[in-house]
Amino acid sequence: MLIRNAVLADGRRRDVRIEGERIADVADAGSLDSGDDRVVAADGRLLLPGCIDVHVHFRQPGHAHKETWATGSRSAAAGGVTTVVDQPNTTPPTTTGTAFDEKATLAADSLVDYGINGGVTEAWDPDTLLERPLFALGEVFLADSTGDMGIDADPFADAVARAADAGVPVTVHAEDASLFDDGVYGSDAGGVGRDADADRWSAFRTAEAEAAAVERAVAVAGDTGAQLHIAHTSTPEGVDTAAAAGATCEVTPHHLFLSREDLDDLGTYGRMNPPLRDEARRAAVFERVADGTVDVLATDHAPHTVDEKEQGLWDAPSGVPGVETMLPLLLEAARQGHWSYERVRDLTARNPARIFDLPRKGRIERDADADLVLVDPDRPREIRGEALHSKCGWTPFEGWTGVFPDLTLVRGHVVYDGRGERETFGDAVGQNVRT
Ligand SMILES: [Zn+2]
Repeated sequence: MLIRNAVLADGRRRDVRIEGERIADVADAGSLDSGDDRVVAADGRLLLPGCIDVHVHFRQPGHAHKETWATGSRSAAAGGVTTVVDQPNTTPPTTTGTAFDEKATLAADSLVDYGINGGVTEAWDPDTLLERPLFALGEVFLADSTGDMGIDADPFADAVARAADAGVPVTVHAEDASLFDDGVYGSDAGGVGRDADADRWSAFRTAEAEAAAVERAVAVAGDTGAQLHIAHTSTPEGVDTAAAAGATCEVTPHHLFLSREDLDDLGTYGRMNPPLRDEARRAAVFERVADGTVDVLATDHAPHTVDEKEQGLWDAPSGVPGVETMLPLLLEAARQGHWSYERVRDLTARNPARIFDLPRKGRIERDADADLVLVDPDRPREIRGEALHSKCGWTPFEGWTGVFPDLTLVRGHVVYDGRGERETFGDAVGQNVRT
């Protein structure tokens, strides 16, 4: 395939030739001979390396009514995400070698490449788990007593030491439950679903709990030499604590674009962990994404059905979908001048590839995997939950504007084509990026 006359994130116009699953050549626009190649006329549209979303919950095994590898990966492909990393809080949890194997079998349904994280609980089996081609350990729920997989500092220290020995990164869900405001918990929620007073969820899971847990995680990992990555930092304090300690961190689109002010409309549909923060903190996190302090954007794509969300505040499950809307929202923000296309590329592709050691991913260069997204940056459209491909059928960004991909390639295979009257999807070509 020859992609003719594309504009890269840095503004250069290039032809890109793909041979098999790799990029064979990148040269000045108009300079490559098409020969027998199938030609995609980019006509000056933007060509980006496919996004690497290091934080999704595709729910299989155990919760296929919320999402499957097939539906989650379609949503990823339609949103320009070509690699996903699945978290271990499935049923059974991915805490043993056998559980890893079960998930790996299901992941064969994926249209996009994937990594599988190993989970850490008091009952995990590091001997068999660490033999498998893991992406990382995590997300490890450090000192989070309200999570099913929450652990305290001692087992966390053991896990970090094992990971350091095995050369496996550790990603941490940093909320210290001892700093939650228990006086708020379980008080009258005042309605269900969109009518619930979800601001109480944010009041309960305090902003202070984040930086404190980051500090604890950094203190434990510091002695071992383990590579530490803080998941979904939602406060400027959390980001700054991670950065000062030399840990990498990620921010989700919902913490970047939504705040407690949005909870009036969202109700339980805006309940997630960590929760939405006040507007001043949201704006401060936004600044840290724009200026490059934050390393990675990742979605924490955590779908639940409408029925599950239509409960009272204290019963509705935490989590929102996001894998399909991350790149569209970031590109729309770029279109409006909040940051450059290079920043979008770095946050979604180049940095995660560097941090998690994926040398063939995240770049448009000769010999890299042909994971590519073609998009018209000047053609935004309205985000509608019913038009997205996650099984859950809703989005916290209903009515927002996004710039969606025209074409998504995974290792040279077209997995999503939105150029015609009807969108089409390719085959389940996804592979484990660690094998
Ligand atoms: Zn998560």
